[in-house]
Amino acid sequence: MIELRGKAVADAHKARLQEKVAAIGSDVITMAVLLVGNDHGAMMYADFMEKTAKNFGYRFVRTQLSETATHDEVYAALMELNDDDSIHGILPLMPMPEQVDTEKLIDALNPKKDIDGLTTYNIGLVTASKGGFAPCTAKACMAILDYYDIPVEGKHVVVVGRSQVIGKPVALMALERNATVSICHSRTADLAHHVRQGDIVIAAAGRAHMITADMVKAGAVVIDVGINELDGKTVGDVDYEAVSQVASAITPVPGGVGSVTTTMMLAAVYEAYHA
Ligand code: NAP
Repeated sequence: MIELRGKAVADAHKARLQEKVAAIGSDVITMAVLLVGNDHGAMMYADFMEKTAKNFGYRFVRTQLSETATHDEVYAALMELNDDDSIHGILPLMPMPEQVDTEKLIDALNPKKDIDGLTTYNIGLVTASKGGFAPCTAKACMAILDYYDIPVEGKHVVVVGRSQVIGKPVALMALERNATVSICHSRTADLAHHVRQGDIVIAAAGRAHMITADMVKAGAVVIDVGINELDGKTVGDVDYEAVSQVASAITPVPGGVGSVTTTMMLAAVYEAYHA
């Protein structure tokens, strides 16, 4: 069994990107996050992204509004980021307080700065195979398969989860690579039956250890996107210990998809700089 560690994938991508960024100079390429309220996860992610972006030589702008900010105030803050030519990529961090209409907000994001492929405009481009920014986590799953030379063409890829940020885009990317794709969700009847058909299983449901060894075909490749808390530990959607006995390759959690997602974000900011 091969453990598909994300760090090796991230390092390879970062090294290539670093050369290109060095040619431009540090503190020129700029990433911004829009943070509203006090959500602990969003604040932690903003801190982490700030450290990562700065270490990489990017400039980082954090626009932070209070828990009581109105939708119009948040919208105005986003417009400022949209209109600031020195800012290349913008990531609005979720969740936001309930008075903010996040759907409306996201669609007001300049698609050329939409580094995580959240806008309907980019979703349309990606769905139509016409370029555009795709969600970084979905790209990270494909980057892991590519780095470890795992062929996708002709394989049956089973995706568990159909969210706009992971399940749907990763299914489309696999389809684009000529896989046969099944998408499962909370209403799928007999999930285990479907998952067992997968040569490649991509688990993105956000349910700790829901993919058990009996659900996985011998020799399958398993990409675990899930990040969950279980008994005070961070675990994936896959029961790693048991599934690693039957799979031919599997990503660990932590140390798998998450570490590559961040690198895909840095790459998207670079792309946005050139857009
Ligand atoms: P989400 O928006 O809650 O979507 C979860 C999807 O899983 C939904 O489509 C849901 O089906 C499906 N689902 C839920 N329970 C299920 C079940 N029992 N059986 C089958 N399908 C089920 O979550 P998300 O944003 O896509 O995130 C998924 C996971 O990835 C989370 O653990 C999140 O923390 C993690 N994540 C990881 C990274 C990373 O970089 N590694 C980045 C972002 C998120 P319905 O559509 O029918 O409700």
